[in-house]
Amino acid sequence: MSVLIAPSELSAAPACSCTLSVIVPVFNEEEALPVLHERLAQVLRGTGVSWEIVYVDDGSSDGTPAALAALQAIEPAAAVARLSRNFGKEAAMSAGLRLARGEAVVLIDADLQDPPELIPQMLQAWRDGADVVNMRRRTREGETWLKRATAHAFYRVINRMSDVPIPQDVGDFRLLSRRAVQALNLLPEHNRFMKGLFAWVGFRQATIEYDRQPRAAGYTKWHYRKLWNFALEGITGFSVVPLKLATWAGLLSALAAFGYALVFVFKTLVFGEPVAGFPTLIVTILLLGGLQLMSIGILGEYLGRLFIETKQRPLFLLDYHHPSRPDTPGRPQEAA
Ligand code: UDP
Ligand code: MG
Repeated sequence: MSVLIAPSELSAAPACSCTLSVIVPVFNEEEALPVLHERLAQVLRGTGVSWEIVYVDDGSSDGTPAALAALQAIEPAAAVARLSRNFGKEAAMSAGLRLARGEAVVLIDADLQDPPELIPQMLQAWRDGADVVNMRRRTREGETWLKRATAHAFYRVINRMSDVPIPQDVGDFRLLSRRAVQALNLLPEHNRFMKGLFAWVGFRQATIEYDRQPRAAGYTKWHYRKLWNFALEGITGFSVVPLKLATWAGLLSALAAFGYALVFVFKTLVFGEPVAGFPTLIVTILLLGGLQLMSIGILGEYLGRLFIETKQRPLFLLDYHHPSRPDTPGRPQEAA
């Protein structure tokens, strides 16, 4: 019998004896999966703690479901969940955070751009008391300069505007303590700009630097259109500065117009007005029209998001969820 699993029913994940949960959002990654699991499992076995890997299939349309099923058949420590369609990486990670049962949780990409070999270091930082271990990219190999430049510009802009500082060059690769995960699970909003949410949670944050690797296989699922939306999500989710910008732009242009009017009156009175100022007129109209449209557009971005939030739809729906087997969380080699 198949039943609908609503996210709200998942909020109280049963306690598990495992120390570490690794969440992997997966979207059309059939080629990368075997390599990833091999490397990840090897690293995890070496950590000496009990572990599980939570694969969240974000509605893949290739051989990913079969690959995950095959993987779970030989790996009891793997949990596999599938969303009912492609909800996007942020939703897939939110699903993973609900399903993960470990005391510490690591989020990692499926394409091996985030080296699993760093997990022991992250665990150490967690043992040293960090609730959120941010992984900062020192280099971004295999990415075009355009992507690097836009990413850099984005972090600068958002940090100018956001109330909570959002660490630059830190992606979704990170470790979260159980209470940080619980805090994230409390957040009801649809605007899942996770980098911002992780920062919003606060607690003790630590940062480790690393070199980002090129993709192991497959191709990136981010297009510039998606990145643009993502940037907008980030900014509108964490700042109302653009709304204020519209006010300021309006105020400044009104002031400028007033100043210009004074100059104009003075000039006409003293020198007379030989020709009609067509260029000035058209420039002013275009400028004001443009500013108005832009301000309405900014309003629209916020209003649209407000509209989506008011619907209170669940963040994702699960097609199925096969938990890891808690009695064998990894090989039971629990360090004292
Ligand atoms: N991903 C996902 N849902 C999506 C797009 C991507 O779960 O709609 C996953 C993808 O499988 C990978 C991770 O998110 O594990 C990062 O995606 P990708 O490598 O395409 O992004 P990039 O590294 O280029 O930013
Ligand atoms: Mg990638």
